[in-house]
Amino acid sequence: MLELNRYDTNELKEKDKKHLWHNITPYSEQDRPMIVTEAAGSWVTDSEGNRYLDAMSGLWCVNVGYGRQELADAAYKQLSTMPYFPLTQSHLPAIELAEKLNEWLEGEYVIFFSNSGSEANEVAFKIARQYQQQIGQHNRFKFISRYRAYHGSSLGALSATGQAQRKYKYEPLTSGFLHVAPPDSYRRPDGMSVEDFNLQCANEIERTIVWEGVESVAAVIMEPVITGGGIIVPEPSYLKRVEEICNQYGVLLIIDEVICGFGRSGRKFGHQNFSIQPDIVTMAKGLTSGYLPLSATAVRKEIYDTFKDNTEMYSHLRHVNTFGGNPASCALALANLQLLEREQLVARAEVLGQRLRSAFDDLLEHPLVGDIRHFGFLLGIELVADKTTKAPASVDVVKKIIGECKRAGLIIGKNGDTVAGYNNVLTFSPPLASTDDDMAFIISTFKQVMANQI
Ligand code: PLP
Repeated sequence: MLELNRYDTNELKEKDKKHLWHNITPYSEQDRPMIVTEAAGSWVTDSEGNRYLDAMSGLWCVNVGYGRQELADAAYKQLSTMPYFPLTQSHLPAIELAEKLNEWLEGEYVIFFSNSGSEANEVAFKIARQYQQQIGQHNRFKFISRYRAYHGSSLGALSATGQAQRKYKYEPLTSGFLHVAPPDSYRRPDGMSVEDFNLQCANEIERTIVWEGVESVAAVIMEPVITGGGIIVPEPSYLKRVEEICNQYGVLLIIDEVICGFGRSGRKFGHQNFSIQPDIVTMAKGLTSGYLPLSATAVRKEIYDTFKDNTEMYSHLRHVNTFGGNPASCALALANLQLLEREQLVARAEVLGQRLRSAFDDLLEHPLVGDIRHFGFLLGIELVADKTTKAPASVDVVKKIIGECKRAGLIIGKNGDTVAGYNNVLTFSPPLASTDDDMAFIISTFKQVMANQI
């Protein structure tokens, strides 16, 4: 723990400014970074002693909450006995964790470990392309994703991402990535039912496959629910139809569970809410509750077998990373899953998500609130300037609300898509272990801030 009297905060901020390049934050906002020095439960404390309830779980990842000693102990014990060996060979924590993940996935999968969500998706893309080639589908290299989706920062994962502002000045990216519209039911055409609109969005994937040439498409990638793009929740029939289309055309279905996994959705994995069986599942964040870096690409055993049983040259997966499946990360992840099970946090996520949604019911009457969407313990509030036209609220309005929440001790998120003008969704993704008092604080603080906007 950092001792508050060791540095004065101004000095720390000067050092920060001089030496640290922050993730994504615009330079205009870097003058006053919050320097977090302690964290416990759902709360973080900054270097000035201010406490905040972190209703975003960091970057949607601290599922079990901060300060869990048993996770630190699991990592320490592993570091003390066998700190590192590469997964070109094997070690106990990786084997045990892979077995546990299979149990959670409720299917037969083989697990490839990496370090981040982006990397897990890169591995999925490489496996999908190589698999298609190895079953004789030599031209299947394209991927279909959705606008507004985020799948990571590396060039392939960024290519899959459907948010233009993240790509500016980094293009050209990896070729072969196509995008279709997300099932944003709030903005469906007037007079169309939600069910029909979702079906139309799913069928756009089929149309794209056919127009692009069936023999050219390797896989579809999607989150069960678009999270960073503004909590866009599909009808259950949408994902079922997508699965059906993928099966019909020999296209693999990659489900990105980087945020939706590990209880966030009220089930172990988000896709389990929709009764689909993905070919590949990618995961990160909640796998270790953010305590150490680790990600995984889970691949259906039949796909793995086409690699294993192929004796041609270069038919094995030629992907290696030094740190993927680090023993301490795996040991900690296993302890994290055991903790989620023991405290029944997956079921609690569903209960808390419902509680938050119900508590915010009356906000639908607020002039700025266009829509409220939730999925498990994820919630998005879409702010509008005009409820009839659904014109998005301005960035200034969104920032003002977030700033007032922060001053009142509540950290919430802002998501959507800047270029499309929809960076207007306030997001909530609190630790699944949030207490009843935490919930009361989130609800009362946010509602008070919203009441001040009228
Ligand atoms: N996929 C999704 C859905 C994400 O939200 C993220 C990160 O926010 C990623 C992938 C990339 O994960 P990472 O930041 O660990 O590379």
